[in-house]
Formats: sequence, C-alpha cells, structure tokens
Amino acid sequence: MTASLQRSTKIVATLGPASSSPERMLALVAAGVDVVRINFSHGTADDHRQRVDALRAAAHDAGRTVGVMADLQGPKIRIGKFAAGPVQIKANQEFILDAACTLGDEGRVGLDYPDLVKDVRAGDVLLLDDGRTVFDVLKVQGKEILCRNRHDGELSNNKGINKQGGGLTAPALTAKDMEDIRTAASIGTDYVAVSFPKSGDDMRLARALLTAAGSNALLVAKIERVEAIENLNNILEATDGVMVARGDLAVEVGDAAVPALQKRIIRTAREFNKFVITATQMMESMIHSPVPTRAEVSDVANAVLDGTDAVMLSAETATGDYPVQTVEAMARICVEAEKSSDFPLDTHFLHRVFTRIDQSIAMAALFAAHHLKVKAIASLTESGSTALWMSRLNTGIPIYALTQEVRTRYKVSIFKGVFPVMMRQSGQDRDQVLLDAEEALIAAGAVEVGDLIVLTIGEPIGKPGGTNTMKIVKVGEHRSNQ
Ligand code: PEP
Repeated sequence: MTASLQRSTKIVATLGPASSSPERMLALVAAGVDVVRINFSHGTADDHRQRVDALRAAAHDAGRTVGVMADLQGPKIRIGKFAAGPVQIKANQEFILDAACTLGDEGRVGLDYPDLVKDVRAGDVLLLDDGRTVFDVLKVQGKEILCRNRHDGELSNNKGINKQGGGLTAPALTAKDMEDIRTAASIGTDYVAVSFPKSGDDMRLARALLTAAGSNALLVAKIERVEAIENLNNILEATDGVMVARGDLAVEVGDAAVPALQKRIIRTAREFNKFVITATQMMESMIHSPVPTRAEVSDVANAVLDGTDAVMLSAETATGDYPVQTVEAMARICVEAEKSSDFPLDTHFLHRVFTRIDQSIAMAALFAAHHLKVKAIASLTESGSTALWMSRLNTGIPIYALTQEVRTRYKVSIFKGVFPVMMRQSGQDRDQVLLDAEEALIAAGAVEVGDLIVLTIGEPIGKPGGTNTMKIVKVGEHRSNQ
C-alpha cells in the first residue's frame, strides 16, 4: 500500500514559482499532495490553465488522483502605491489613508477601496500588512482617514488592510472574482474557494455563478471575517466545505482567539457534513529551512487531532526553498498524529440526525464496520456523498470511494479518510459488479483475499439513484462460490 493510502488527513499545496516545473510537480504529487491550490490573486487565466494541465499530467504519471482548487482573490482591501518605494513610519506618527491620493509619500497613501472611509470611524483600529502595522483611527474627514501609528515600522506598496472586529462592507465577490469563477469553470477545477464571505448568501451567489458557467465544483467558504464566525451555521448550510483561513482571521479577531475558533469551526463543519481545511503558516519556517520547528509539528498534529480533513501549505510550496521536503514532513506528522487518535464513534453516532435512505445506509455501514472492525469500507458511488457522510465520523477504518466518475474521484480526494479508487464496471450484473469492486480494491492495495469489508451500493445497478444497500463480505468468498 502506498504512503498516501495510509494517511487519512489530506494535504493541500499551493502552486507557485517553486512548484510549477513538471519535475517539481511530479515530486510533490509523489510526496503525497492530494489537492493543489491555485491562488487566483496572482497570474492570468492562461497561467492557471497551464498549471492545471501540467498538474493533471504529473498526477497521471504518478498514478495518483489529485484535485484542483481555485482560490479567488476576494475583496482584499489594500493601500495604493508609494512614489518612491517603501516608507518608514515612526511610533505615534500621524499618517493619512487618502482615497484621493494617487501616489503615496511619508505622510499619506491612497486606497484601492475608496469606500473604506464610509466603514471606519474615530476609535477604530486598522491593521495593515497582516497586522504588522497598527493604525488607531483619529478622525475621518471627506476622503481622508487620519490615523496614529502604534509601532516603528515600514509600509510598502499594496499592503492589505483589515479592520479589527470586522465591519467592512466590501462584497465578497468582486468583478474579478466573477470572471475568475468562469475561468475556474472552463479549466475544470474541482473546488472553488471564496475569500471573505460574510453569509450563506455570498456562497449562494458564488454557486449560482458557478452553475451558470457549467461547473459543479465543490465550494469552499474561507472563514476569515468576524461576520463569518457570527454566521458560521448559515454559511455551512450553503457551502460544501470551509477553510480555517487563519491569516486574515487572526487579524480580524485577534491571534489568540484563533486556536479555539479552529476547533469550533472544525467540529461544526463535521456536524454539518461539510469538509474542512486548516490553513496558513502551518510549516512557515520551511519556506527557508529544511526542517520544521517543534511548534509547527505540534500545530499540524493538533489540527489532525481536531479532526480537520486537510492541512494546507501556502508559501511553503508556492515560493519556498524546500517544497517537497515540506510535504514529506507534513505527511509524516499527519500519519503519526493519526496513530494517537481514538475513535469514540458511539457517543457521536447516537446524536446524528438523518432522514435520507442513502445517508441511513452510510450510517448503518459505518456502525457495522466499527463493531466488526473490518479492514475497509467500500462505497460504490456516483457523487461521493456516501463517502462524505461516512467520513464525518472517525472510525479509523479507511473508506474507499469506488467510482467510474473521474470528477468524483477528484472531489473525494479532500475528505479525511476517503480514498478514491478507479473502478471499471464490466456490466450491470450485481454479482459481477461486486467482483469488479473487489478487484479494484485488491489492485489498489487496499485489501487482500480473506479480509472482511463493508460495501455500500445502489440497486438496481445502472439505475441512477441513491445508495440503498449494504453488504458485508469476505474478499474472495464470492469468487470461490461461483
Ligand atoms: C488566510 O488568510 O489565512 C488565507 C488562507 O487567505 P489568503 O488567500 O489571503 O492567503
């Protein structure tokens, strides 16, 4: 069995200059990347398309299923540019954010988002450059926001601005994002991440645009605004998955609040049957170091223990000096952390509410698999939902999503403990399909003859519709009875 089949927690790696050559992509995929993230804040539609094509080729060569996520830029609110490069600003110095300024200097700079003047008032705190610069707002007048700087520091072109405590009115989807959704659909990305959503409505709008563009990619809501925390349940109802986007979230809510929020977001997402990615600075020091810090090892392991589906790498793989080593180290940490997980199925299980037939079969299969301690759960699936439901509860038993649908294989690649397996059905005959499933599992190195497995399937075979049958089988038994 390959290393990736033994690891339940998935790895999302951001592509960038350090990871775009065909050789590097192949090495990253071989090291265990399950999903790549294309950051739509940088590059053109052609760049994105070329990267995805190269990635698909590398995954094919490595014999692995790797999903692709488009991450939309969103309304990143930024200062403008300076006339003569970065400026030094002293503690207690007054500085003006000026919506009318075109080129900044030591005393003022322009705003990419002129409406900021409407969203702030005296007493507010603005955090620039991910909180490295802290401005106390003294006065708002016309197009100018007069601020006092808290610490000595430097300010350079286009740095982002957050407002502590939230309250910026910029819509989640900009005109660029709407265009990028069409690009993502035409490239065929498997997931689209929406930056800075505030409510379920933002996700519904993204879904409508995506559907209109002909894509049924899974949507990811990046939780990075105070409003998104307040509306978490509402967002979860409208999305397929969420990302704990700890960079911007820490700036909005204060860094010390993030660890507890991470646990709450992961727990709630799983309760809503949604997947969750934990992101940002997980292996930050490996941008320039071949080994992680002890704190980073603990951070990744704790996210695994919190129950995250996936852990994400940003600059570490996009621009870092050690992208492949970072993925290898992350994979190693995940595997070790998973060994120490316990699987208290019963208490969680009893509180699950479900009414659908396919979901009932998924839960029944999980319950049987847990108590019979089977080697594997196999879900013959078209959409991947049975595998998703089963993976929301930890049993420690691998779930194999067997499907002919290539898009479904990509989509399930982010679910914790779910492994996509290509299955060619040689006909509609039920016994033959079960044999095909066993063959596919054996070929994938998932099971051996004699292993007990739980299998879910929709009958009659070939009729589109939900899973309605569960079968407990000893691999090979069926064959010897024929
Ligand atoms: C974050 O803020 O943590 C995040 C993942 O978003 P970005 O795309 O800005 O890195």
